[in-house]
Amino acid sequence: MNTARSLLNDEWYERYKRISKLNIRSSIYDLTNRCNLRCKGCFFFSSNEHLVREERDLDAWRAFVDSEKARGVNVAIIVGGEPTLFLDRLQVFYERIPTFCATNGLIKVPRDRFPDMMVGISLWGDSEDEKILRGRDTFSISLNNYEGDEYTYYLYTITPKQIGRTERIVRRIRDAGLKVHFQLLSNDEDVDDFYWTPEKLKAIRAEMDEMLDRYPDTVVSSKYYHEVLTTGRMLGREWGWMECPSVTESFDNRNPKPKRLIHFIHWGADLKTQHRCCTSATRDCRKCYDGAAHMSWVMVNKRAHMVSSEAFQNWVEVYEMFAKLYRYIPW
Ligand code: SF4
Ligand code: SF4
Repeated sequence: MNTARSLLNDEWYERYKRISKLNIRSSIYDLTNRCNLRCKGCFFFSSNEHLVREERDLDAWRAFVDSEKARGVNVAIIVGGEPTLFLDRLQVFYERIPTFCATNGLIKVPRDRFPDMMVGISLWGDSEDEKILRGRDTFSISLNNYEGDEYTYYLYTITPKQIGRTERIVRRIRDAGLKVHFQLLSNDEDVDDFYWTPEKLKAIRAEMDEMLDRYPDTVVSSKYYHEVLTTGRMLGREWGWMECPSVTESFDNRNPKPKRLIHFIHWGADLKTQHRCCTSATRDCRKCYDGAAHMSWVMVNKRAHMVSSEAFQNWVEVYEMFAKLYRYIPW
């Protein structure tokens, strides 16, 4: 039987050892139903995940986070709506558990209250695309808010219209002393001209690879991740509902059950409702380009990658990418 030691040379084995002991149990939390934007294609609003009641009592949030910790969760991924609209709730998490905050970056997380909280800023392209999809150019504002912040990266959701235009954005992020990670737009609200085709996916894969080669200190990614995300294939298997690892435990009626995130739940802001998965409750899984879900797909399938040195190195790189994004290891 192949082992990590037999598949990896000394250098790769050291890299493997750095990440092999991480025991990550994440879940996702909607902090609020409100947002200061209404992006076309936002999965949260388009799948009506905002229609649950919103818990306002901070003691209820405190008890909830404690119960999540008791359930074994050791990293809380805070989404929304827009979490920065409710900093007191965010602080409840931050004081209790390693916390990652996804934000549109329009409001700066005050670093005196959250000195080392990881922040991921959503970015949907250059100002032209952002004005179409989000109603305004958020990039300049978020760059200004977070310039030089060592606990922040951009989650750049690349749209089909960004092909040939990503480098300018990557450079601006580099010049601001920040990092960037890529995923692709899923176009949940069918905006014209924002659909992926096989040709466009091929082109953006090559472009993401090129950005990683040219800006390795800024782009946090891996070529294997680009391949899996753009082809929807991993080790000959096809992406979709039957493979997705990021399904809420109570919704997981699949048979056979795939490898999945252990005890993963996406909670609504009422602290009672559970949503189907890490993104949209209504999205057609075949058209899902969620980056975290694809990354997790690779990560939970460790054994399947232990078939060759190359396949297992690919697995190590994707795991490292995740570990960097959550600062388990340095950038
Ligand atoms: S900023 Fe995020 S939560 Fe708000 S509308 Fe846009 S995608 Fe949705
Ligand atoms: S929409 Fe995406 S993340 Fe959700 S279950 Fe389907 S494939 Fe998984």
